[in-house]
Amino acid sequence: MAAKVLDGKALAARIRAGIADQAKALIAKGVQPGLAVVLVGENPASQVYVRNKSQACQEAGFKTFDHKLPAATSESDLLGLVSDLNRHRAVDGILVQLPLPDGIDAKRVLLAIDPAKDVDGFHPANLGRLLMGEPSFVPCTPFGIMKLIEEAGVTLSGAGAVVIGRSNIVGKPMAALLIGANATVTVCHSKTRDLPGVVRAADVVVAAVGRPHMVKGDWIKPGATVIDVGINRLPDGKLVGDVDYAPAAERAAAITPVPGGVGPMTIAMLLANTLESAKRRPAT
Ligand code: NAD
Repeated sequence: MAAKVLDGKALAARIRAGIADQAKALIAKGVQPGLAVVLVGENPASQVYVRNKSQACQEAGFKTFDHKLPAATSESDLLGLVSDLNRHRAVDGILVQLPLPDGIDAKRVLLAIDPAKDVDGFHPANLGRLLMGEPSFVPCTPFGIMKLIEEAGVTLSGAGAVVIGRSNIVGKPMAALLIGANATVTVCHSKTRDLPGVVRAADVVVAAVGRPHMVKGDWIKPGATVIDVGINRLPDGKLVGDVDYAPAAERAAAITPVPGGVGPMTIAMLLANTLESAKRRPAT
């Protein structure tokens, strides 16, 4: 049986169109959603991400505030900018692109962002609320994955889910969201003893490691839903995920492609969080 391909590009386009409509209505009431994007240094991948995020905002009718700072920027200057953006009325969301250059403590910078403008959902206050089942802003990648799973019509309640990877931005919040949806969740990481065995028992597999084709097709339980978060560039330039796609797609009921699966959803959910923040903007 060939798996249903979960088309993140198409779903993200629909979500973004809905967000643009809502932004139009909000602008008519005098509130234009605004996102500040802060990039420090010249990391080429970060430059692409930041450009894509700003462009997506503009397409949705949002205002963007781009701050491109040199790699030599001091932590205190960056903290000063974050503090200005926290107070700026037209800024509903603040995104500081990671990684930050050596010499800047990313944790300190993330802590300085007002949790009410933390549209990436990385502030401990928002991650804490997520664990307590009271989310304010959900990290964009796991949020997008939940939308993809919902769209696929997968029943999470009572399902066995495995999340491979325990990062603060993907693995851990993903596990919290799946628990919130009543799945029985196992989180695997680099010290997990029998990864194939754990994956073989799972109805839902979320792979977020960053290793090309690490999850083999014969690990997939027939009929499982497979979400591939990994983005890996092979020496020939091809982009692949963490899952060995072709053999996995033969066993899975549904699977996300790379590219075109999780990636486009991440930006769509950044827009969703920023729109939500704009709706909550206090009246003057
Ligand atoms: P990370 O490097 O912070 O975390 C990787 C995790 O994988 C760690 O928790 C580690 O314990 C685990 N791991 C490492 N080796 C392992 C092994 N052999 N077996 C099991 N687990 C192992 O990465 P991250 O930021 O969570 O990102 C993971 C991947 O997802 C990367 O490829 C990244 O590019 C991609 N990503 C994609 C999007 C998107 O929008 N599509 C967003 C964020 C991250």
